[in-house]
Amino acid sequence: MQQRIVVLAGGIGGARFLRGLKSAVPDADITVIGNTGDDIHLFGLKVCPDLDTVMYTLGGGIHEEQGWGRAGESFAVKEELAAYGVGPEWFGLGDRDFATHIVRTQMLGAGYPLSAVTEALCRRWQPGVRLLPMSDDRVETHVLIDDPDGEGRKAVHFQEYWVRLHAATPAHAIVPVGAEEAKPAPGVLEAIAAADVILFPPSNPVVSVGTILAVPGVREAVASAAAPVVGLSPIVGNAPVRGMADKVLEAVGVESTAAAVARHYGSGLIDGWLVDTVDADAVAEVESAGIRCRSVPLMMTDVEATARMAAQALALAEEVRA
Ligand code: GDP
Ligand code: CA
Repeated sequence: MQQRIVVLAGGIGGARFLRGLKSAVPDADITVIGNTGDDIHLFGLKVCPDLDTVMYTLGGGIHEEQGWGRAGESFAVKEELAAYGVGPEWFGLGDRDFATHIVRTQMLGAGYPLSAVTEALCRRWQPGVRLLPMSDDRVETHVLIDDPDGEGRKAVHFQEYWVRLHAATPAHAIVPVGAEEAKPAPGVLEAIAAADVILFPPSNPVVSVGTILAVPGVREAVASAAAPVVGLSPIVGNAPVRGMADKVLEAVGVESTAAAVARHYGSGLIDGWLVDTVDADAVAEVESAGIRCRSVPLMMTDVEATARMAAQALALAEEVRA
């Protein structure tokens, strides 16, 4: 029977991993539960960066080197908006990408839930997976920082913290605003319950996977699922491979090490954990926390290397099951 795999994914790390997973197990039935905590309203449009990164990457439309946005992009709309003095100028939306957000916003305005809109967008992109937003309800990750204009602290949208401020100022807290009232999107809990394997790709543990787990019912569903749950570390050699995950880990009191991230998820949630070969020393520590652990190469340098990572994760899941 077709293997049913559920993956909780953020943007670039999740999308690149999924491409390797599809190559490793082309016949598998893959459901992706995508993070929507990074979503932002810009110029009256609803932008879903992580869903789009997965959709474009698996659908062949991604800007490869950048890892997000469309290939062959132009920026006429952005330039025209800037000429009107309309920002923000720090968020790079290209013309092709704008079309996606226009279609999405139009459909949402007509009353379709985000899950139905995502399905419609995927009809064009044919990502080869079922892509579900974690929730149809609005959840927006905010970051609490020192107020640059005053004594106190202020909350800024995650994109402002990440893209405009480059996470250069300390984060005191990460708040998924709206998560408590959000419901999992249709199919999310059902997919988790029916899965043969659940994978956490090397996505950001706090603002990608952590946000998905913050939707009431999702963490519980993963923890109580019959399927083995295996994660791959986004932290290699005590630093994120890409981006500033160390900054948001610090905000939740977690060290930037492969072992600390495994303990942060905990044995109540994950059964297996892969660390990179440079972190082989972490294996004993992770196993002493009750999580089966292996060290294997975890750099997604190309699809073949990523497919090997995915195969190792599935092998570890089989080991846990046995
Ligand atoms: P985002 O939403 O675009 O930030 O993407 P994700 O949350 O899905 O993934 C971000 C994480 O991917 C970062 O913390 C990186 O450390 C991790 N990452 C990126 N490339 C690699 C890689 O080649 N190997 C591993 N192990 N992690 C990676
Ligand atoms: Ca993201």
